[in-house]
Amino acid sequence: MPKKRKSGGRSGGKRGRASAKTCASCGGTVATDKAKKYTVFSSAVDYRLAKELRSEGAHIPRQQKIVYYCVSCAIHKGRTNIRAKKERHD
Ligand SMILES: [Zn+2]
Repeated sequence: MPKKRKSGGRSGGKRGRASAKTCASCGGTVATDKAKKYTVFSSAVDYRLAKELRSEGAHIPRQQKIVYYCVSCAIHKGRTNIRAKKERHD
């Protein structure tokens, strides 16, 4: 059967089994080398209040969180775009 991608949509080369991560959107299990990793910044302060405080020169700490999405959720959320074969190989 022909392969759509040489890597099978995975990264990391010849490894065999990869450890699993949980998708932050659907809660499904996705292999680490196949999951899409994103860094999300969140603030405990409401964004309207934060904007006001920032204009007054206050420093608002924000928390960094790493989230993993499965391929279908990353596409659904617009984090990853579907690209044509020609575009993928460039
Ligand atoms: Zn998902």
